[in-house]
Order: sequence, then C-alpha cells, then structure tokens
Amino acid sequence: MVNKLTSAWENYYAPDSVAAALEILQRHEGRARVIGGGTDLLVETRRGLRRPLEAIVDATRIEGLNSISAEGDYIVIGCGVTHTTIVNDPRILRYGQCLAESCGVIGGPQVRNTGTLAGNVAHALPAGDGTIGLLALGGEVEVASATGTRWMPAKDTFEGPGRSIIDRHREILTRLRFRRTAGNEGSAFHRVMRPQGLCLPIISMATRLEIDGDMITAAGISMGPVGPVPWFAKPAAEILVGKPASAEQFDAAANVALENISLRTSKYRATAEYREMMIRTYLPIILATAVRRARDTP
Ligand SMILES: Cc1cc2nc3c(=O)[nH]c(=O)nc-3n(C[C@H](O)[C@H](O)[C@H](O)COP(=O)(O)OP(=O)(O)OC[C@H]3O[C@@H](n4cnc5c(N)ncnc54)[C@H](O)[C@@H]3O)c2cc1C
Repeated sequence: MVNKLTSAWENYYAPDSVAAALEILQRHEGRARVIGGGTDLLVETRRGLRRPLEAIVDATRIEGLNSISAEGDYIVIGCGVTHTTIVNDPRILRYGQCLAESCGVIGGPQVRNTGTLAGNVAHALPAGDGTIGLLALGGEVEVASATGTRWMPAKDTFEGPGRSIIDRHREILTRLRFRRTAGNEGSAFHRVMRPQGLCLPIISMATRLEIDGDMITAAGISMGPVGPVPWFAKPAAEILVGKPASAEQFDAAANVALENISLRTSKYRATAEYREMMIRTYLPIILATAVRRARDTP
C-alpha cells in the first residue's frame, strides 16, 4: 500500500509481515526509515531536524508483533506494542515491574498510547525511560535484516546520542524480551524530573535484584542521562553481589556509580551537584524497594 501523505515523507507503507517490510526497505536503498508510533521521528521531521524521508515503513501493523507473550523464561514484547499496553500488562507488572514503571512516566497518555518501547530503544537517547527500565532487567532485542534475524543485549545497541547499531533504514527491531523475575527477585525504577514544562529527566534509574535470605546474589542497575548512551551500570551492580542487602551496601553502590560517571550541569535539567545528590538519594531507595519486592513476591 502506498499513500502520498505529507511533505515530511513521500510514501507511507504499512506492511503486514517482516519480509515485506524488509523488502520495501531494500527497495528504497537506505532512503526509507522504519517508524513506530512516530512520537520521536515525526516530531523531529516536522521540526525540520531531519530531511524529509523518501518513505516510512510502519512497523506497528506487522502481524504477530503487536502483542506481549510469555515464552519459557522470557516475556516477549512485539515492536508494535505501545507504552500503555506495557504499563497495563499483568505479566510485566509481575515479572518486570521496573519496565512498567519506566514506560508509565513517558510523556502523557497520548504519547504512551502511540509510542512504542521498540521506538524508545531504537531512538537510542541516553535518557530513554523505557530503555532504562529494560536495561536493568537485562533486556534483549531481536533485529531483522536482509541477512537474517539475531538477538542481542539491548545495552550493546547504543553508539551515541541518537545513534544505534540498528540500521533504521535497513533493519527492523522486531521484538524485545527479558527473563522474567523469579520469586526471589524484584525490580524498581525512579525518575527525578522537573515538575513543570517538558518532561526532561534530571536522572532516571532502575534496578533488578536477586536475593537469597539477606544476601544479594545477582544485580542489574541502569541509569541516564549520565553520558552519551543509556548506562548499564555494571560496576555499581557488581559490588552488591555477595553482600548483605543493607543501607551501607546501597550507599556503596551509589558511590561506585558516581566514581564511574562524570555528571554535567545542564540548564535544562539541573546542576551536576544536584544530580549527584539525586543518585545518592534515589539509588539506595530503588535498591531497597527491589529487595522488598523480592521478599514480598509469593
Ligand atoms: C510530548 C512528548 C513527550 C515525551 N516524553 C518522553 C519521556 O518522558 N520519556 C521518554 O523516554 N521519551 C519521551 N518522548 C519520546 C518518545 O515518545 C519515546 O521515545 C517513544 O518511545 C518513541 O517511540 P515511537 O514508537 O513513537 O518511535 P518513533 O518516533 O516511531 O521512532 C523513533 C526512532 O526509532 C526508530 N524505530 C522505531 N521503531 C523501530 C523499529 N521497530 N525498528 C527499527 N527502528 C525503529 C525510528 O526510525 C526512529 O529513529 C516524548 C515524546 C513526546 C512527543
């Protein structure tokens, strides 16, 4: 199907299969672009931040990629799934709570009804909220291209602000997945932001923790914006493993996180000092929340 719609793009395609979508992308030889809800791409195109596109290929109409499913140990999310669907899905609320929380703060209801997690990850902004929730869970993405389909850790797809190793002119992020949290695991997300104006986050962070009694046996932490890409805070998570789930250890994790980043003052966000204070305050809080959730899970 081809329609001439606006000057922001010449052709709009809504293929119903991955093969058809890839074929269209190939035909346009790098001058077409994959689109999800369009809440980033169309806003940027209409603002003149990018050149009008020869074609856009809508990934939200592809059959089978508009739902969430439980497959073995994984919760799998199709690229057409919106933030609203994620926020309301009982399996995500139970097995990936930090993802529901992170998608729940994105924009307002209209943006969440249209925007997708796939678009949030593929856009590769350092402060993408859903992305930060997914990273803490150890999330992965499936990428389809003319040469085949591959799964890879979501954290390995970011190259710089807005730059992804996923070639959005030739490849499609088809699905996202994470291993569901078990009975001894919990997760949590928190975003600090200015209460007024555009939702520019001062700092967002998420965690997934596994406990055995009072000990932490596995940990994941993510945060942004603290650099050019959403940060999988491996050093901060690693020092928690094998230690008691205590306030002292949570403070130590915040210290390690801060040793590994260089916060900047931004007139739109906050001073570096304030952002440091927010990490010292809220990282221990989300870690404690994740431990509590791990203990409370039946
Ligand atoms: C008013 C407003 C408020 C917002 N607030 C927030 C916020 O609080 N937090 C936040 O994180 N974001 C926010 N956003 C940004 C945006 O809504 C999210 O990033 C959203 O998740 C983008 O998803 P989308 O489906 O609309 O992506 P699109 O705009 O369709 O695409 C974004 C990028 O990803 C690529 N892409 C999309 N889908 C695929 C795919 N399946 N395969 C390959 N590439 C793909 C596109 O080519 C494009 O480069 C806001 C946007 C607006 C307009």
